[in-house]
Amino acid sequence: MTRQGIALVLSAPSGAGKTTLVKRLQQEFPGFAYSVSCTTRPPRAGEVDGKDYHFLQRAEFERRRAAKQFAEWAEVHGNLYGTPLDPVKQTLRQGTDLLFDIDVQGAAQLKLSLAEAVFVFILPPGLDELERRLRGRGLDDEASIQRRLANARQEMAASRWYDALVVNDDLDQAYDQLRAVYLAATLAPARNPGLVDALLTR
Ligand code: ADP
Ligand code: 5GP
Repeated sequence: MTRQGIALVLSAPSGAGKTTLVKRLQQEFPGFAYSVSCTTRPPRAGEVDGKDYHFLQRAEFERRRAAKQFAEWAEVHGNLYGTPLDPVKQTLRQGTDLLFDIDVQGAAQLKLSLAEAVFVFILPPGLDELERRLRGRGLDDEASIQRRLANARQEMAASRWYDALVVNDDLDQAYDQLRAVYLAATLAPARNPGLVDALLTR
C-alpha cells in the first residue's frame, strides 16, 4: 500500500519570506507537489496562470465555491482565494507530498478536515522588517502594502495553534528549521490513507 503523501501547510504574513522558503524547499525536494490555489487577485508581473495561481474572475470563483470544489477558501486582502479539492485528494492518495501556501483562515479550515497535515507558520523578525521586505520586493502598491501590514498583526496573533513557528530572520537558519519539520514528518509512522477521503468541501 502506498503511503499517503505529507500535507505541509505554510502560512505567514505577506512579506515574511514564505515564497523564498518554498522555492528552496522545492529545489531541494523536487518531488514535492505544490497546491495551486485559485484567486480573484490579478496576476503580478512574472506570475504564470496555472503555475503560481489559477487566476479567475470573481463570478467563476463563486461558481466553483457554490459547486463545493474548494477544500477551503477565504477572503484575504480584499480578494478571494481557494484550494481546489480534487488535486489535493489525488496527490496525497498517490503518495506525493504536497505543499500549501494559504492564510490562517484557510489553514484553520484544513486543520479540521485534514487532521494529519503539518502546519507551519513563518514569522518575520519584527513588523519594521516586514515593512522593509514588502517595500524592498517592489511588487505591491502603497494601499496594498498598508493593508498587508494591518493584517500582519492579526495573522501573527492567530499563529499559536500551528505545529511549528519559524522566525525568518537569517534565511539559512529559517530554512534549516522548516526542512527539519518536514523531515520529521517523513519519519512519522505511515498515515492512514482513509483520512484523505474525510476531506470536507467548503
Ligand atoms: P512572502 O512570500 O511571504 O510574501 P517573499 O518570499 O516574497 O515573501 O519575501 C519578501 C521579500 O523579503 C523578498 O524581497 C525576499 O527576497 C526578502 N526576504 C525573504 N527572506 C528574507 C530574509 N531572511 N532576510 C532578508 N530578506 C528576506
Ligand atoms: P498573495 O496575494 O500575496 O499571493 O497571497 C496573499 C495571501 O493569500 C497569502 O497569505 C497566501 O498564503 C494566501 N493564499 C494563497 N492561496 C490561498 C488559498 O488557496 N487559500 C487561502 N485561504 N489563502 C491563500
